[in-house]
Amino acid sequence: AAPVAFLGGMSQASRRGVIVKGGGVLESLAHARAVAFDKTGTLTHGRPRLQRVEPAEGFTADAVLAAAAAAEAYSTHVMAEAVVRAADDAGLARLSARGGTEEGTRGVRALVRGTDGGAGAGTGTDTHEPGAAVEVRVGKLAFVREVAPDAPEARFAPGETAAYVSVDGRHAGTLVLADALRENAGETVAALRAEGFERAVMLTGDNEHTARSLAAEAGLDDVAHSLLPEDKVRLLAELRPRPVIMVGDGVNDAPVLAAADVGIAMGARGSSAAGESADVVITRDDIGRTVEAVRIGRHTYRIAL
Ligand code: ADP
Ligand code: MG
Repeated sequence: AAPVAFLGGMSQASRRGVIVKGGGVLESLAHARAVAFDKTGTLTHGRPRLQRVEPAEGFTADAVLAAAAAAEAYSTHVMAEAVVRAADDAGLARLSARGGTEEGTRGVRALVRGTDGGAGAGTGTDTHEPGAAVEVRVGKLAFVREVAPDAPEARFAPGETAAYVSVDGRHAGTLVLADALRENAGETVAALRAEGFERAVMLTGDNEHTARSLAAEAGLDDVAHSLLPEDKVRLLAELRPRPVIMVGDGVNDAPVLAAADVGIAMGARGSSAAGESADVVITRDDIGRTVEAVRIGRHTYRIAL
Protein backbone atom coordinates (compact mmCIF):
# COMPACT_ATOMS: atom_id res chain seq x y z
CA ALA A 1 0.00 0.00 0.00
CA ALA A 2 1.05 3.56 -0.50
CA PRO A 3 2.57 5.30 2.55
CA VAL A 4 -0.48 7.54 2.65
CA ALA A 5 -2.70 4.48 3.04
CA PHE A 6 -0.88 3.06 5.99
CA LEU A 7 -0.56 6.44 7.71
CA GLY A 8 -4.33 6.65 7.39
CA GLY A 9 -4.66 3.13 8.77
CA MET A 10 -2.45 3.93 11.75
CA SER A 11 -4.31 7.08 12.70
CA GLN A 12 -7.65 5.35 12.27
CA ALA A 13 -6.37 2.64 14.60
CA SER A 14 -5.13 5.08 17.24
CA ARG A 15 -8.54 6.75 17.38
CA ARG A 16 -9.89 3.30 18.19
CA GLY A 17 -7.47 2.75 21.08
CA VAL A 18 -5.06 0.65 19.03
CA ILE A 19 -1.49 1.96 18.77
CA VAL A 20 0.25 0.42 15.74
CA LYS A 21 4.03 0.80 15.65
CA GLY A 22 4.65 1.22 11.92
CA GLY A 23 3.20 0.40 8.52
CA GLY A 24 4.92 -2.99 8.40
CA VAL A 25 2.83 -4.03 11.38
CA LEU A 26 -0.41 -3.28 9.53
CA GLU A 27 0.81 -5.44 6.68
CA SER A 28 1.55 -8.35 9.04
CA LEU A 29 -1.89 -7.89 10.64
CA ALA A 30 -3.42 -8.01 7.19
CA HIS A 31 -1.79 -11.37 6.42
CA ALA A 32 -2.14 -13.07 9.82
CA ARG A 33 -4.06 -16.36 9.86
CA ALA A 34 -3.30 -17.71 13.35
CA VAL A 35 -3.68 -16.18 16.80
CA ALA A 36 -2.44 -17.22 20.23
CA PHE A 37 -3.75 -15.75 23.48
CA ASP A 38 -2.20 -15.64 26.92
CA LYS A 39 -4.81 -16.47 29.54
CA THR A 40 -4.29 -14.52 32.75
CA GLY A 41 -5.08 -10.86 32.22
CA THR A 42 -5.66 -11.38 28.49
CA LEU A 43 -8.59 -13.78 28.02
CA THR A 44 -9.48 -13.23 31.68
CA HIS A 45 -9.95 -9.92 33.44
CA GLY A 46 -6.73 -10.38 35.39
CA ARG A 47 -8.36 -9.09 38.54
CA PRO A 48 -8.51 -12.30 40.54
CA ARG A 49 -10.32 -12.52 43.86
CA LEU A 50 -9.49 -14.87 46.66
CA GLN A 51 -12.42 -17.31 47.03
CA ARG A 52 -11.20 -19.42 49.91
CA VAL A 53 -8.19 -20.74 51.74
CA GLU A 54 -7.86 -24.50 52.10
CA PRO A 55 -5.40 -25.07 54.93
CA ALA A 56 -3.47 -28.33 55.11
CA GLU A 57 -3.88 -30.41 58.24
CA GLY A 58 -2.36 -28.66 61.24
CA PHE A 59 -2.51 -25.20 59.68
CA THR A 60 -5.09 -22.46 60.11
CA ALA A 61 -6.55 -20.53 57.18
CA ASP A 62 -5.56 -17.17 58.68
CA ALA A 63 -1.99 -18.23 59.30
CA VAL A 64 -1.63 -19.55 55.73
CA LEU A 65 -3.05 -16.35 54.29
CA ALA A 66 -0.85 -14.12 56.48
CA ALA A 67 2.29 -16.07 55.56
CA ALA A 68 1.39 -16.04 51.86
CA ALA A 69 0.67 -12.30 51.87
CA ALA A 70 4.07 -11.57 53.44
CA ALA A 71 5.81 -13.39 50.56
CA GLU A 72 3.49 -11.95 47.90
CA ALA A 73 4.65 -8.46 48.82
CA TYR A 74 7.73 -9.35 46.70
CA SER A 75 5.74 -10.48 43.65
CA THR A 76 4.38 -8.55 40.71
CA HIS A 77 2.15 -11.46 39.60
CA VAL A 78 -1.54 -10.54 39.19
CA MET A 79 -2.43 -13.11 41.84
CA ALA A 80 -0.12 -11.45 44.38
CA GLU A 81 -2.13 -8.27 44.70
CA ALA A 82 -5.31 -10.27 45.31
CA VAL A 83 -3.64 -12.25 48.09
CA VAL A 84 -2.24 -9.17 49.83
CA ARG A 85 -5.60 -7.42 49.57
CA ALA A 86 -7.48 -10.43 50.95
CA ALA A 87 -5.14 -10.59 53.97
CA ASP A 88 -5.65 -6.88 54.63
CA ASP A 89 -9.42 -7.21 54.23
CA ALA A 90 -9.40 -10.07 56.73
CA GLY A 91 -7.67 -7.74 59.19
CA LEU A 92 -4.59 -9.96 59.50
CA ALA A 93 -1.46 -8.38 60.96
CA ARG A 94 1.30 -7.96 58.39
CA LEU A 95 4.23 -10.27 59.07
CA SER A 96 7.73 -9.03 58.41
CA ALA A 97 9.60 -10.64 55.56
CA ARG A 98 12.98 -10.33 53.88
CA GLY A 99 14.95 -11.80 51.02
CA GLY A 100 11.94 -12.11 48.73
CA THR A 101 12.60 -13.49 45.24
CA GLU A 102 10.18 -13.90 42.40
CA GLU A 103 10.99 -17.04 40.41
CA GLY A 104 9.65 -16.08 37.01
CA THR A 105 6.05 -17.17 36.61
CA ARG A 106 6.53 -20.15 38.95
CA GLY A 107 5.99 -18.28 42.18
CA VAL A 108 7.62 -16.23 44.91
CA ARG A 109 9.58 -17.14 48.04
CA ALA A 110 10.65 -15.09 51.04
CA LEU A 111 11.89 -15.48 54.58
CA VAL A 112 8.98 -14.64 56.84
CA ARG A 113 9.25 -13.97 60.55
CA GLY A 114 6.62 -14.80 63.11
CA THR A 115 4.85 -17.59 61.24
CA ASP A 116 4.71 -21.29 61.72
CA GLY A 117 1.59 -21.40 59.60
CA GLY A 118 -0.33 -22.18 62.77
CA ALA A 119 1.29 -25.59 62.87
CA GLY A 120 3.96 -25.03 65.48
CA ALA A 121 2.04 -24.95 68.70
CA GLY A 122 1.50 -28.35 70.16
CA THR A 123 2.67 -30.40 67.16
CA GLY A 124 6.07 -31.04 68.63
CA THR A 125 7.56 -30.65 65.17
CA ASP A 126 8.57 -27.03 65.45
CA THR A 127 12.31 -27.03 65.74
CA HIS A 128 12.57 -23.27 65.43
CA GLU A 129 12.80 -20.76 68.22
CA PRO A 130 9.74 -18.51 68.29
CA GLY A 131 10.08 -15.62 65.87
CA ALA A 132 12.67 -17.28 63.62
CA ALA A 133 12.34 -16.55 59.91
CA VAL A 134 11.21 -19.49 57.78
CA GLU A 135 10.91 -19.86 54.02
CA VAL A 136 7.43 -19.30 52.62
CA ARG A 137 6.66 -20.18 49.01
CA VAL A 138 3.55 -19.21 47.03
CA GLY A 139 2.90 -20.27 43.45
CA LYS A 140 2.50 -23.25 41.18
CA LEU A 141 2.26 -26.81 42.42
CA ALA A 142 5.62 -27.80 40.93
CA PHE A 143 7.32 -24.87 42.66
CA VAL A 144 5.92 -25.77 46.08
CA ARG A 145 6.59 -29.49 45.52
CA GLU A 146 10.31 -28.73 45.21
CA VAL A 147 10.32 -28.28 48.99
CA ALA A 148 7.08 -30.06 49.93
CA PRO A 149 6.85 -33.10 47.59
CA ASP A 150 3.64 -34.37 49.17
CA ALA A 151 1.61 -31.21 48.34
CA PRO A 152 -1.64 -32.52 46.82
CA GLU A 153 -3.25 -31.10 43.69
CA ALA A 154 -6.15 -28.84 44.64
CA ARG A 155 -9.69 -29.30 43.34
CA PHE A 156 -11.54 -26.29 42.06
CA ALA A 157 -14.34 -25.22 39.76
CA PRO A 158 -14.16 -23.81 36.21
CA GLY A 159 -13.01 -20.18 36.35
CA GLU A 160 -10.98 -20.84 39.48
CA THR A 161 -7.27 -21.40 39.84
CA ALA A 162 -5.00 -22.26 42.73
CA ALA A 163 -1.84 -20.90 44.29
CA TYR A 164 -0.07 -23.35 46.60
CA VAL A 165 1.64 -22.29 49.83
CA SER A 166 4.48 -23.92 51.74
CA VAL A 167 5.83 -22.83 55.11
CA ASP A 168 9.27 -24.03 56.17
CA GLY A 169 9.26 -26.87 53.66
CA ARG A 170 5.77 -28.17 54.49
CA HIS A 171 2.68 -27.83 52.33
CA ALA A 172 0.59 -25.35 54.35
CA GLY A 173 -2.45 -24.91 52.16
CA THR A 174 -3.98 -23.72 48.94
CA LEU A 175 -5.40 -20.36 47.97
CA VAL A 176 -8.26 -20.67 45.48
CA LEU A 177 -8.69 -17.60 43.28
CA ALA A 178 -11.29 -16.78 40.65
CA ASP A 179 -10.42 -14.86 37.50
CA ALA A 180 -13.32 -14.93 35.07
CA LEU A 181 -13.19 -14.94 31.29
CA ARG A 182 -13.76 -11.49 29.80
CA GLU A 183 -17.37 -11.15 28.65
CA ASN A 184 -16.37 -10.63 25.01
CA ALA A 185 -13.58 -13.25 24.83
CA GLY A 186 -15.71 -15.78 22.91
CA GLU A 187 -17.11 -13.09 20.65
CA THR A 188 -13.57 -11.92 19.87
CA VAL A 189 -12.45 -15.42 18.91
CA ALA A 190 -15.53 -15.88 16.70
CA ALA A 191 -14.95 -12.52 15.01
CA LEU A 192 -11.35 -13.44 14.22
CA ARG A 193 -12.52 -16.70 12.64
CA ALA A 194 -14.90 -14.65 10.51
CA GLU A 195 -11.84 -12.63 9.45
CA GLY A 196 -10.29 -15.82 8.10
CA PHE A 197 -8.25 -17.04 11.08
CA GLU A 198 -7.62 -20.77 10.75
CA ARG A 199 -6.14 -21.33 14.22
CA ALA A 200 -6.95 -19.72 17.57
CA VAL A 201 -5.22 -21.16 20.64
CA MET A 202 -4.34 -20.46 24.27
CA LEU A 203 -0.75 -20.48 25.56
CA THR A 204 -0.73 -20.32 29.36
CA GLY A 205 1.49 -20.90 32.33
CA ASP A 206 -1.50 -21.94 34.37
CA ASN A 207 -2.62 -25.47 35.18
CA GLU A 208 -4.33 -27.84 32.74
CA HIS A 209 -7.73 -27.89 34.43
CA THR A 210 -8.15 -24.10 34.49
CA ALA A 211 -6.68 -23.73 31.01
CA ARG A 212 -8.96 -26.32 29.38
CA SER A 213 -12.19 -25.09 30.91
CA LEU A 214 -11.55 -21.47 29.89
CA ALA A 215 -10.31 -22.42 26.41
CA ALA A 216 -13.52 -24.36 25.79
CA GLU A 217 -15.62 -21.47 27.07
CA ALA A 218 -13.82 -19.05 24.72
CA GLY A 219 -14.21 -21.41 21.73
CA LEU A 220 -10.49 -21.90 21.11
CA ASP A 221 -9.15 -24.80 19.01
CA ASP A 222 -6.38 -25.84 21.28
CA VAL A 223 -4.58 -25.08 24.52
CA ALA A 224 -1.03 -25.52 25.78
CA HIS A 225 -0.74 -25.23 29.59
CA SER A 226 1.87 -25.19 32.37
CA LEU A 227 4.23 -23.24 30.11
CA LEU A 228 7.22 -21.12 31.01
CA PRO A 229 7.72 -17.90 29.02
CA GLU A 230 10.36 -19.63 26.81
CA ASP A 231 7.94 -22.51 26.07
CA LYS A 232 5.45 -20.00 24.69
CA VAL A 233 8.10 -18.73 22.26
CA ARG A 234 8.85 -22.28 21.10
CA LEU A 235 5.18 -23.14 20.59
CA LEU A 236 4.62 -20.17 18.26
CA ALA A 237 6.59 -22.14 15.67
CA GLU A 238 3.85 -24.78 15.61
CA LEU A 239 1.37 -22.21 14.36
CA ARG A 240 3.57 -21.20 11.46
CA PRO A 241 4.00 -20.88 8.50
CA ARG A 242 0.83 -18.83 8.88
CA PRO A 243 1.80 -15.39 10.24
CA VAL A 244 1.00 -15.49 13.95
CA ILE A 245 -0.49 -12.87 16.23
CA MET A 246 0.23 -13.21 19.96
CA VAL A 247 -2.00 -11.34 22.41
CA GLY A 248 -0.64 -10.94 25.94
CA ASP A 249 -0.43 -8.62 28.88
CA GLY A 250 2.10 -9.30 31.59
CA VAL A 251 5.77 -8.60 32.01
CA ASN A 252 6.42 -12.30 31.39
CA ASP A 253 4.80 -12.13 27.99
CA ALA A 254 7.50 -9.80 26.64
CA PRO A 255 9.58 -12.61 25.00
CA VAL A 256 6.62 -14.20 23.19
CA LEU A 257 5.21 -10.81 22.13
CA ALA A 258 8.59 -10.00 20.59
CA ALA A 259 8.81 -13.40 18.85
CA ALA A 260 5.36 -13.31 17.21
CA ASP A 261 4.84 -11.84 13.75
CA VAL A 262 2.58 -9.36 15.50
CA GLY A 263 2.73 -8.99 19.30
CA ILE A 264 -0.35 -7.28 20.69
CA ALA A 265 -0.12 -6.03 24.29
CA MET A 266 -3.22 -5.32 26.31
CA GLY A 267 -1.73 -2.10 27.54
CA ALA A 268 -4.41 -0.47 29.64
CA ARG A 269 -2.97 -1.96 32.82
CA GLY A 270 -0.23 -4.04 31.22
CA SER A 271 3.39 -3.67 32.07
CA SER A 272 5.62 -1.33 30.11
CA ALA A 273 7.95 -4.28 29.38
CA ALA A 274 5.14 -5.97 27.47
CA GLY A 275 4.27 -2.69 25.75
CA GLU A 276 7.84 -2.15 24.59
CA SER A 277 8.12 -5.66 23.11
CA ALA A 278 4.79 -5.38 21.34
CA ASP A 279 4.03 -4.23 17.80
CA VAL A 280 0.54 -3.13 18.78
CA VAL A 281 -0.63 -1.72 22.10
CA ILE A 282 -4.32 -1.73 22.98
CA THR A 283 -4.92 1.23 25.25
CA ARG A 284 -8.40 0.16 26.36
CA ASP A 285 -9.07 -2.78 28.62
CA ASP A 286 -10.89 -4.50 25.75
CA ILE A 287 -9.71 -7.67 24.03
CA GLY A 288 -12.20 -6.95 21.19
CA ARG A 289 -9.81 -4.29 19.88
CA THR A 290 -7.66 -7.09 18.46
CA VAL A 291 -10.37 -7.62 15.86
CA GLU A 292 -10.31 -3.93 14.97
CA ALA A 293 -6.54 -4.05 14.57
CA VAL A 294 -6.88 -6.94 12.11
CA ARG A 295 -9.73 -5.29 10.21
CA ILE A 296 -7.79 -2.05 9.80
CA GLY A 297 -4.78 -4.03 8.55
CA ARG A 298 -6.91 -6.01 6.07
CA HIS A 299 -8.64 -2.85 4.89
CA THR A 300 -5.41 -0.86 4.48
CA TYR A 301 -3.82 -3.64 2.43
CA ARG A 302 -7.12 -4.48 0.69
CA ILE A 303 -6.88 -8.13 1.63
CA ALA A 304 -10.01 -9.85 0.42
CA LEU A 305 -11.01 -13.08 2.16
P1 ADP B 1 -0.56 -17.02 32.14
O1 ADP B 1 0.47 -17.61 31.25
O2 ADP B 1 -1.94 -17.41 31.71
O3 ADP B 1 -0.43 -15.53 32.31
P2 ADP B 1 0.79 -17.77 34.65
O4 ADP B 1 2.00 -18.40 34.07
O5 ADP B 1 0.96 -16.47 35.34
O6 ADP B 1 -0.42 -17.70 33.60
O7 ADP B 1 0.14 -18.84 35.64
C1 ADP B 1 -0.87 -18.55 36.58
C2 ADP B 1 -0.59 -19.38 37.84
O8 ADP B 1 0.68 -18.97 38.35
C3 ADP B 1 -1.52 -19.16 39.01
O9 ADP B 1 -2.61 -20.02 38.94
C4 ADP B 1 -0.66 -19.51 40.21
O10 ADP B 1 -0.74 -20.87 40.56
C5 ADP B 1 0.76 -19.30 39.73
N1 ADP B 1 1.54 -18.22 40.33
C6 ADP B 1 2.75 -17.82 39.88
N2 ADP B 1 3.27 -16.85 40.65
C7 ADP B 1 2.36 -16.60 41.61
C8 ADP B 1 2.30 -15.69 42.71
N3 ADP B 1 3.29 -14.85 42.97
N4 ADP B 1 1.19 -15.70 43.46
C9 ADP B 1 0.18 -16.55 43.20
N5 ADP B 1 0.18 -17.42 42.20
C10 ADP B 1 1.25 -17.48 41.41
MG1 MG C 1 -0.14 -13.43 31.74
